Parts: sequence; structure tokens; C-alpha cells
Amino acid sequence: MAKDTPGRYTPETPVPTLPFVGPSYEEKLERIGILTIKDLLYHFPFRYEDTRDISTVVELREKGEGTIKTFVKSIANTRTRSRKFLTKAILEDETGSISAVWFNQPYLTKTLKRDEPFMFSGKISTKWGSTSLMNPQYEKIISEGGGTTHLGKLTPIYPETYGLSSKWLRARIKPLENAIPELVDDHINEEIREKEGLLNLSVAIHKLHFPGEISDIEEGQERLGIDELIEIRKQALKTLAARKKLKSVQINDAEESEAKNVLLKSLPFTLTNAQKEALDEILDDLDEDSPMYRLLNGDVGSGKTIVALLAAVAVHDAEHSTVIMAPTTILAEQHYQTISDTLSDANIDIPVILMTSQTKDEIPQTPHIIVGTHAVIYQSTLPENIALVIIDEQHRFGVTQRKKLEKLTTGADGRSPHYLTMTATPIPRTLTMVLYGSTNVSTLDEMPPGRLPSETHVVPKKKRSEAYKWIDEHTEQGDQAFIICPLVQDSDKIQAKAATEEFKRLSKDIFKNRKLDLVHGQMKEGEKQSALTKFRNNETDILVATSVIEVGIDIPNATIMVIEDAERFGLAQLHQLRGRIGRGDKQSYCFLFTEYPSDEAQERLKYFSSHSSGFEVAEYDLKRRGPGEVYGIRQSGLLSLRFADISNPKQLKKAERIATILESSV
Ligand code: ADP
Ligand code: MG
Repeated sequence: MAKDTPGRYTPETPVPTLPFVGPSYEEKLERIGILTIKDLLYHFPFRYEDTRDISTVVELREKGEGTIKTFVKSIANTRTRSRKFLTKAILEDETGSISAVWFNQPYLTKTLKRDEPFMFSGKISTKWGSTSLMNPQYEKIISEGGGTTHLGKLTPIYPETYGLSSKWLRARIKPLENAIPELVDDHINEEIREKEGLLNLSVAIHKLHFPGEISDIEEGQERLGIDELIEIRKQALKTLAARKKLKSVQINDAEESEAKNVLLKSLPFTLTNAQKEALDEILDDLDEDSPMYRLLNGDVGSGKTIVALLAAVAVHDAEHSTVIMAPTTILAEQHYQTISDTLSDANIDIPVILMTSQTKDEIPQTPHIIVGTHAVIYQSTLPENIALVIIDEQHRFGVTQRKKLEKLTTGADGRSPHYLTMTATPIPRTLTMVLYGSTNVSTLDEMPPGRLPSETHVVPKKKRSEAYKWIDEHTEQGDQAFIICPLVQDSDKIQAKAATEEFKRLSKDIFKNRKLDLVHGQMKEGEKQSALTKFRNNETDILVATSVIEVGIDIPNATIMVIEDAERFGLAQLHQLRGRIGRGDKQSYCFLFTEYPSDEAQERLKYFSSHSSGFEVAEYDLKRRGPGEVYGIRQSGLLSLRFADISNPKQLKKAERIATILESSV
């Protein structure tokens, strides 16, 4: 087969079949996963350079940069004092001429032939006494009226690895241009496309590689984004379907559990409607013989813990164990305490075991509620009777850890436990729909009654002393305050040091009449715990803390929080922090201290201070910073979304609709 017969390519044709792809390039392409023509077509630009605006030489001199169409009048190599090659050319059009220089590319004297037309694009420098285009890009104009691949257009810039340039990739993709319709098969049929106003896939791919207008790029990206969302949902449903094939421990009539009803009656409050609904959905799932895989999606303080505990109690009634996993020792200890207290207040006799790296009690085979941290995963054996695994603040656990846990909790008979994961901060509903499917998410979108949202204020530098004075007065009257120290990226140590210094400064000076304490990540677990206990017992007025406090701590009397350098935190994290106060029925106050916030940060913090719903904050954050920042790199599925805009509910809903049609037609 001749190397340059486009009509004969198929999507599976290996790339070395293309002209100019020899063994060394084959290897380089393979390194970035490009083996076939289809792979090459799906290697999309990550940005574009706009060189459509062609200047004359005179205009270029005025603007200092740009693209020109000129003839090469002369070209020659010289050597610099350091023996490097310097290629110098004179470029000329009807308005004038300009020199251009390149370093260490002596072969250019052969490429850029005299009296032939070329496009050049780059920046002007006047460094060496004369004005020259420095290292401009160039392309030969083959025919008048266009025919260029690299310049004078919206030029795609591809993700490159060492030795594979964008220019080279463009030149390989160019000959495929006209064959794209034959090479790309659309998995979404015309009827659906028309109904949803969706671009044909081959047209979209063409637009991304060969855009004429900016709008082409946007249209192409939108179509590819839809495909990505459909794919991620397909993957999610596949995982789910695989899980549903597993056998699980069926908790018969979990709904009727007596202990659960006793607990419900003894609570000092009634469940919100959202909590009731979530609990019903969970108990229904437990009554199935395939494992539950449910997300409990709720705002900070919406009462996820009690829902989880009610389920665990129902499981215990059926003589099975539950494992509740918390991301930190502090949180595990707190859960352990709350759960033990709640059960004993209700006179329910269920053994609760705490399992952290400090405490490794032997676990008997009788039914228990086991509250633990990662330490649970490193346990070699767990009781055989585990029927429910609850993972709190799920984003903190990595994929491998979850896999390990799954293995460990699967019984000898191969039966899998049910899984309930709880979010740390709410995930927008549109997003959970795509990721989990609507039937596997319970949303707590309602706060327990009587909760006053905290008043949030941005405090600029000049108002700081006023705020300190206000806090001093309020803590004197018995209120308690957190002071959160700045976030220091990736360094627990520096962060701890900064917190220690701040603690000293505040104790000595600003709050010298108050009782202060300190908690940070470098302290021993016991020390941390004792500082928190003292604070909880109202023995200290002010707790200076790093963001270790972020996770789940529940201290109802603390009503004031200062967050230093608030602009350094993401909104989801700020919301988590803010969620630590205002858990009682008193009005709470959150002060966001800022030093030199950018306009963007100021706007972000302003939004935050006027919105108390975690769902709203999450959506805003998602729009501004993207999923990687908001949910952390661990939810890697989201990061592979290159084109999908998951902050765009319209696109998410469209993908959801199309996916549903596609799923029902297979
Ligand atoms: P989160 O959802 O952030 O984990 P928690 O489960 O810690 O929140 O609950 C926060 C507080 O709200 C706890 O003190 C809990 O006892 C209380 N709570 C939970 N549900 C209700 C309710 N329906 N009415 C009143 N208070 C509730
Ligand atoms: Mg919680």
C-alpha cells in the first residue's frame, strides 16, 4: 500500500503507515498512547494560537509582534563569539523590510529560499542595536490564497512530549483532514443529535483540529464534552452494575428494626424530612440481596451522622456489624463518643469499638459498631459479620484504600457489605446525577430547624483591631472562638510553627485576659485531643488552630471564627471551616481576615459571605476553579474531563438525557 493514500485508511490503521512516521517517531507516538489513526485524531489541541491577523512589515514594527507575509530577500549564517550559529535573513513586502534572526538552526538557509513567499510570526526585539524578529515561526506559502497549515490561522497547539512538536503533529494530521468523515463513526445517531442540537462527531473533531473561527473550537469542545460525560457515566454505571451482581448480606425488614425505632423516639429532636427520606432509602437498599452503593450528599451540619447511626443500629438488630470510617483520629474519637453517648441515652445496648492507630482492641466475632480510621484497613482480620461500611468525608480516602477495605470486609462466603459514603461538603446535584445516577444518591438539602446561618464578614486589614476588640468582649461574656491560621501549602511543619507563633502573639498581647489554647497537625494525638476536650468543656475561650480543625469537629458553644488569610482557602474548605460554628442555636459569626486580596479573591469571598448554602457555594466554586481543585485529585475520573464543563448544568442535563436514551436502546 502506498504510504500516502488517504482513502485507504481506517481508524485502526497503525500510525507508521502515514508518511514521515518512521521507527523513531513511532516510538515517540507510542509513548503518548498514539498507535492508530484514530488515536491521532483524538489527540486534541490544548490551546490555539491566533495568527489570522496578517500585518504588513510597517504594521509589525509598530505593534512589536505579529504575523507577516513576505519574501526572503537574503539569508546567511554567521557565528557568534561563543561559536554558535546565527542565521540572519532580510524579509520584505511592499511596505518595507525587516531582519529576522534564529539561533542554532543553520539548516534554515536551505529551508527559507530566497525570493520565495513565506509567513513569519513572532516578536520584535531591539536588543543588539538593530530591530529584528527574534526566532520567528515560519511557513512557506505554497499557493496564493492560503494553503498554510501553521500560520495565518487559528493554529492548534498540541500537548507535546520531548521530541514531538506541535508543528510536526499538525503536519501529520493535515493529510487526514478530508478523510475525517469516513474515519469517525458517531455513536449517537442523527435522530438524537437533531433533537438535542448536537454536532456530528466527525464535524466536531474536524473543528477542533482545523478551526476557522473561535466558535468552531467552542462547538467542537461542547460536543466532545458531552461524549466525555456520557462515557464517565457509562463507567460509573458499569461499576455499579458489577457491584449489583455481587451478593450481599440482606438485612430483612431493616425498616422494622426495633432498636432503630427506640433510638428514633429517644432523640431530643425529630428528623428533618430530608433525613427521613434518606434513611428510608438506605434501609430499603439494605433489604436487598445486592450491595448498596449509596452517597449521602449533605451540607455541613445537615445531620448525616444520626442517619448513619440509625442504619447501623438496624444492622445490629439483624445481628451484623457496621464499620464507620473517619478520615482523622480526632473525628473517629468524636464519632465514637457521640455514638456511645447517643446509644446509652436511649438505653440501647450495642457494643461500640474504637479502632485507631493508638487503640487496637481485639474485635470479637459478635455484632459491633466499629468506629475507626485508616487503621481499620491495616487490620489483618475483621469480624466475619460486617454488613455495612460507612465512609465519612469520603473524598479523603484514596482509591487503593477503598479497594483494600472492600477486600477486607468481604466475607468468606463472598458476600459483600453495603456501602454508604458521606460527603464532607455538598456536591452539586447535577454532578452527582452524572457520577452516581439519580437512584444512588440521597440528598440532605434541608438543615435541622432553628439553625441560624452564621453571619460572615470579610475583614480588611484596617478593620482588624476592631474585630479583635469585638471578639475580646464577646469571649469575656462566655462565647468561644476559633482562630484559624493561614494555610501553608504542603507543609504541616511550617503551618504548625506559624500557628504556634500566632498563639504566642495573641496570648501575650491582643487577648491577654482570655484563656487561649493551641491545636495543630504536628501535635501528638493525645495533646490534640486534650486541647479539644478543654475547649469543648469551655475551659478555654479561644482555640488557635490550623485547618486540622476543618473536619467534622462539633463544639456547639463555639460561635465565633476568625480565618486568617482567608483568600488562600478554597470556598469548599472555607465552608467546612465555617461549619464548625453555629451548631447550637446561638447566632454565630465568621470573620474572613484578608491582607491583600486580588479582585478575584475579593469577589469570591464576597459571594461566600452572602451565601450560606453549601450547595450554592460548591456550584460557584466548581465554576470558578474546576473539579480538580474542588474535589482533590483523588476523584480522578473528573480530572480526565478535558472538554466537559461540569459547572454547566445545561450540558450535564443534556448528557444525562442522551445517556438515558442510549442506555435504554442497548
Ligand atoms: P454533618 O452532616 O456535618 O456530619 P452532624 O451529623 O455532625 O452533621 O450533625 C450536626 C449536629 O446536628 C449534631 O449536633 C446533631 O446532633 C444535630 N442534628 C442532627 N439532626 C438533627 C435534627 N433533625 N434536628 C436537630 N438537630 C439535629
Ligand atoms: Mg460529619
